Order: sequence, then C-alpha cells, then structure tokens
Amino acid sequence: MADENCSICGRTAVFYSAYLKQNLCKKHFEHMVFRRIRAAFASNGLKAKDCSLPRGNSAPAGMIRFLFKDSKGGGIRLQTNTLEDFAVSVMEYFAFSKKPNISVNSKGTFSPLYTTSEKEIAAFLDLKGINFHEKKRKGLDAELLGILEDIEKRRPGGMLSIVKIGRTLGLI
Ligand SMILES: [Zn+2]
Repeated sequence: MADENCSICGRTAVFYSAYLKQNLCKKHFEHMVFRRIRAAFASNGLKAKDCSLPRGNSAPAGMIRFLFKDSKGGGIRLQTNTLEDFAVSVMEYFAFSKKPNISVNSKGTFSPLYTTSEKEIAAFLDLKGINFHEKKRKGLDAELLGILEDIEKRRPGGMLSIVKIGRTLGLI
C-alpha cells in the first residue's frame, strides 16, 4: 500500500477497496465510508441525529460513537451489527434454515453498518488512533465467514449482494 496513490486525487493511499477497485487516501476513504452510511440511513428513511448510541467497546460500537457523536438520543437505537454479521445470518438461513435473529431496521433499532465491512471499520478507527476489539466468531459462524471471505475474494461485493438478497426476501 505504501507506494500506491489515491485513484481520485493522487495522494498517498491508505486503503484499497477491492469492491470499488480503487486505492483511497485518508480523506477519500473516509468520504466513501460516510457516503455509504448516509446512504444506509437514507434508504431506510431515517435520520442519524434522531438516534441514540450503542453501548460496548467493540470496533463497530466505537465507530458508531465516533460517527454519530452529535446524535440526540432519539427514538431509534443504533445497533453494531456489520456487513459480516448480516451476511453470515443470511448464509445460515440458506444453508441450515436458521432464521436470522438480527435485523437491519425493526422495533425501533437500526444497524447503520449493515453495508460496511469490518475491514473498513478497522481501517477507519486505526486512522483515528482509536483502539478497537475485533469481533471474534466461533464454530459455524466462523466457518461461514471463511466461506464468505472466499466469495468476497473471488467476487468483490459478493457479501453485499448476499445481504441485499436477504433484505429483498425480508430475512434481515
Ligand atoms: Zn484521495
């Protein structure tokens, strides 16, 4: 990464997005993350300022608290589930008929990171100098995530497609 330049502005890149096929500098990486999360809110008809923040010290919670520090503690409780969490849930449904127990937007909660991967979250927090704890998965969840990461490597955006199918079918 050290020798790569941002595909947009030519500054030193800090992140390679396989999905966008772009190297991104700090500024454009952060823009990409903000844009994605804004789009997640907009497509669910929500406003970030009306949300209250999650507890805990996982990487997703840290990222949400950083991004939404001005939110007002309104009626919608933000959840820390990530793209990986939802992709694993949808895979569990297809492979084992296990009904997902997380949802993107229901019962006064919303998961603003459902289209953001944990690699992006880790990179984002790292650039802010914020410590984080990686999510640990065991057993079936860990195996399914391994399969999903393989799919993602062969076809960047594959995990997002699986999550979108899950949304279309009303699973998550
Ligand atoms: Zn740039």
